[in-house]
Amino acid sequence: MRAVPSVTRFEFFLMVYHLFLRHNMTYALVEDVLKLINCIFGCRILETSEYIFRKVFESKCKTYTHFYCPSCDMYLGEKSQFTNTSATCACGTECKVSKLVDNN
Ligand SMILES: [Zn+2]
Repeated sequence: MRAVPSVTRFEFFLMVYHLFLRHNMTYALVEDVLKLINCIFGCRILETSEYIFRKVFESKCKTYTHFYCPSCDMYLGEKSQFTNTSATCACGTECKVSKLVDNN
């Protein structure tokens, strides 16, 4: 008798995605985990390709980088607003954009 999963395919993908993010997994390991899930249930529940996994979680939203002062945590603005290579926070700290990118 074959076990019937009580979670949806998307929920399986979501659990693997959580592991992927939390443990900085490679896509090769993601594929192996997906194959393992299929093996446990004895049938092909999930697509096991990296391409499908990426498509499920591909973001349609544009991402923005926001900068905060490393000394006082005051919001400095969104990256695209910075036309100079540095900015001075109200607390007096000079913040270099290249350093802010590394810290954020
Ligand atoms: Zn500051």
